[in-house]
Amino acid sequence: MRATIKYRIQIEEGIKRTQKNFEDEVRSILTDKRSWPINFIQDQDNYDFVINLSKAKTITNICNFKGLSCSDSLKKQIYINNYRWINGSKPSKHNIKDYRRYAIQHEVFHQLGFGHSQPVKGEKVAISVQQTISIGEAKKNCWPLPWEIEWVNKKWNQN
Ligand SMILES: [Zn+2]
Repeated sequence: MRATIKYRIQIEEGIKRTQKNFEDEVRSILTDKRSWPINFIQDQDNYDFVINLSKAKTITNICNFKGLSCSDSLKKQIYINNYRWINGSKPSKHNIKDYRRYAIQHEVFHQLGFGHSQPVKGEKVAISVQQTISIGEAKKNCWPLPWEIEWVNKKWNQN
């Protein structure tokens, strides 16, 4: 059976995007059959982690680096970089829709307890790679690879 994990959505004040618009996009990514094998449910009151849409400057202050989204597993917070949400990332080779898929799933993977991996030449790049920076000589990809799905199943979906 699939584990159920609940998340809350927050948009930082001053960002011009409606709550519903961001909620809809996140939901369509996390409930896609190609995404993590977890039953993700949005719940604004009872939740396991928070997905924040944050200003780039806020992320620099909180996570201490520039230009990326980040995830704090101890505080159970994901900070999606609004600049990237709008502009994507050239090195990732994704169009904006696929970049958003990558970004959400990458940060959620951290909340599930996993770290980074490296791109493998000639193969589809994993979600756990920091694709915003570079996908090396791998092929672009915005969905979890079979081995990543297996890791999640082993950790979260036993019995
Ligand atoms: Zn990461």
